[in-house]
Amino acid sequence: MKIGIIGAGPAGLTAAIELGKANKQVYIFEKGRVGENIICAEGFFDYFSEIHVELPEKLQIRKLIVQDDKNYEIPLPKTGKFYTFDRKKWQLNLADKAIFHGVKVIENTKIDKKDINSLMKDFDYLIDASGVKGVTHSFFPKEEVKIYRKYLMPTIQYKIKKDFSIYKDTIKVILLNDPPGYFWLFPRKSNGFINLANVGLGLLSKKNQLPNLKSVFSQILAKENIQITDEKIMSGPIPTKRIRHYKHKKIILSGDALGLCSPLHGGGIDTAYLSGFYIAKSIEKEDFIIYEKFLKSVDLRFFIERVFLILWEKFGSHRILSRLKNKGLFKDSPDNIPLTKNWYIKALLRLVT
Ligand SMILES: Cc1cc2nc3c(=O)[nH]c(=O)nc-3n(C[C@H](O)[C@H](O)[C@H](O)COP(=O)(O)OP(=O)(O)OC[C@H]3O[C@@H](n4cnc5c(N)ncnc54)[C@H](O)[C@@H]3O)c2cc1C
Repeated sequence: MKIGIIGAGPAGLTAAIELGKANKQVYIFEKGRVGENIICAEGFFDYFSEIHVELPEKLQIRKLIVQDDKNYEIPLPKTGKFYTFDRKKWQLNLADKAIFHGVKVIENTKIDKKDINSLMKDFDYLIDASGVKGVTHSFFPKEEVKIYRKYLMPTIQYKIKKDFSIYKDTIKVILLNDPPGYFWLFPRKSNGFINLANVGLGLLSKKNQLPNLKSVFSQILAKENIQITDEKIMSGPIPTKRIRHYKHKKIILSGDALGLCSPLHGGGIDTAYLSGFYIAKSIEKEDFIIYEKFLKSVDLRFFIERVFLILWEKFGSHRILSRLKNKGLFKDSPDNIPLTKNWYIKALLRLVT
């Protein structure tokens, strides 16, 4: 069986490794070089607790500082598996692993919409792992793609190189309320030292009038006393509503191309990784129920997260956060891991009772 994969991000590389291990003939096409042009805060949070991979330059995050007009310190237990890491090195390692399992990694090869029909003739399956722009989207129902595009949320980010060791194991988040969104500062290890950080701003809703993201970002940076010198600003949208049809003939959508990012915080590395994994298992066992089952669990997760977003929009962050704090949802305990399924359910129950 011959499988073509478009895009060497977390989704494409994971699918490639698993299919390579299953002795399939796998070709992965990457428009640039593996690990190039990544726009990401490089925070890794494994919601499903299913991912067991080495993360280069891993920094375990033990505290979340969330700020609106107040300051909330949320401890993250050691069992919480919340890290920052070097995503470029990680993807290069994944590509090496794929090559080890016989995958042909073809770099500097951009697949165009017009190539898809001929690729469908050449391959038994074509996995679209091309990220947010989804090179095969025109093959999927127009209405679904329209909704997907409507829910693309804007972001901007700088990677700042300086000593961030005072942050140690802490990430900082400043919440916006109108519309909901947040500023983030994720410290990162490089060569063993915490000497860089990803600093960015993203929105989570377009309901109210969108602010000028760049000017809001500049104001926050000034207030936080973060100087920007010659860092390159990066921006890109985050897909927060998925395309319902994941498959069209031989084409299968994965990761961002399907729209698998958290509507509440925009994270999508874990779901991209797992989507690649479950697509590979589905192809291997010739049973797409495996992928569908995974997508159902993602839908449930995103449904719960969307409820929180609606509450945030309706009541503002302050009322939600103070209530969660008062109800003991930020207490430091190994069975109280913020942003996991059990935590969300507990938090929802406490918010409404
Ligand atoms: C500013 C920002 C910060 C983020 N921070 C986080 C975070 O901290 N944690 C988290 O979990 N998620 C984060 N995300 C989301 C996360 O980056 C994505 O969900 C994740 O990268 C999706 O993986 P993927 O493999 O589906 O797609 P991608 O990582 O986008 O990979 C797609 C690959 O396909 C290639 N490609 C694209 N088009 C073509 C083509 N036509 N032909 C060939 N190759 C092509 C690209 O070059 C790329 O290598 C962030 C997103 C943004 C925008």
